[in-house]
Amino acid sequence: MSETIFSKIIDGSIPSKKVFENERIYAFHDIQPAAPVHVLIVPKKPIPSLDDIAEEDAALIGEIHLVAAKLARELGIAGGGYRVINNCGDDGGQTVPHLHFHLLGGAKLGALTGISGSHN
Ligand code: 5GP
Repeated sequence: MSETIFSKIIDGSIPSKKVFENERIYAFHDIQPAAPVHVLIVPKKPIPSLDDIAEEDAALIGEIHLVAAKLARELGIAGGGYRVINNCGDDGGQTVPHLHFHLLGGAKLGALTGISGSHN
């Protein structure tokens, strides 16, 4: 498995603004926030994309969503609402080939149309 920016962030060789870590998951502020709160939630296991998850990853994917909800509460966006997004593959807009989920909130988010260049 090739190294990605996110594996280097997880091992600390690239700095990040960490908001959560346990043995399986690392979460940090996105370097180019698309909303007032924009956190990336990343499994430490280097799964390239959602298309590569297996049955054995079911608990991990569930735990990532529990972490998203916990961080939304801690970062003060749970009351107003928020969005959790996974971009999968080229057409999905994925730029870093290490599975990650975006937690976005803190403002009214635009509708997702699914058409390039016309969302948010
Ligand atoms: P994707 O487009 O793959 O769904 O999301 C990748 C995200 O990673 C983007 O929102 C981008 O801003 C963020 N990102 C890329 N490189 C870095 C980095 O070095 N540090 C941080 N904190 N975020 C990054």
